[in-house]
Amino acid sequence: MIQTEAIVLHGFDYRETSRIVRLATREVGVVSALARGAKRPKSRYGQGLDLFTSGIAHLTIHPTRDLHTLTGFDASRARPRLAASLHRFAASAALAELCLRFGPEDDSGAIHDVLSAGLDAIGEAADVVVVERTLAAGWRLIAELGFAPSLDTCAACHRPLDAEDEVRFAHRAGGALCRLCAALAPGARALPAEPRHALLTWSRAERMEGIEGPTARAHLRLFREFVEEHLADGRQLKAWSAWERGIA
Ligand SMILES: [Zn+2]
Repeated sequence: MIQTEAIVLHGFDYRETSRIVRLATREVGVVSALARGAKRPKSRYGQGLDLFTSGIAHLTIHPTRDLHTLTGFDASRARPRLAASLHRFAASAALAELCLRFGPEDDSGAIHDVLSAGLDAIGEAADVVVVERTLAAGWRLIAELGFAPSLDTCAACHRPLDAEDEVRFAHRAGGALCRLCAALAPGARALPAEPRHALLTWSRAERMEGIEGPTARAHLRLFREFVEEHLADGRQLKAWSAWERGIA
């Protein structure tokens, strides 16, 4: 049995009275666990298994199985604000989806920590900065997992890139390309100086002003395509693209 900080990423009913939850934990990464009796009115989990709640999970790990047993969950922080606005909820769901998809790549608890900070930032954000906070958390996650894009040097030849240059961004190459390398990389997208500056800001874990409309959609698409290229399993990020499409 272990006790570890955890965040509820996802949950669904299982049989009459139980639930299966996906948790981002600090100690054992992203796991699935059976919460027996969680649907009973006086369950030992209380309201603790609501989406995006942080707490201490009591887990019995079954080393040979993918489904573990959750024997208790001491909620320490519910995040009701995330469900109170569609915009925040969609952003949180997109972030949770990333964590689920990257679960197998995390053995250091990075996902838990980035998600916790990201959900808090989304919860506190004014509407106008929700997209910015979510992208910041998304790029943070990428950096923590060790595949941040190359932005100030060419991803192919490592030549330094001038901060004012419009460069090309190639998902497959893993970042920005100089003019010469871009000519050899069909399909690379134009990445003007301003959005590249935004990516550099997020890569330093700094914050920016809010981004909206077409700028927000372009950033969300760039991020999604980068992630899908990395995951390379042909599956779309559904929650992420639904959110992206819904940005006015
Ligand atoms: Zn180059």
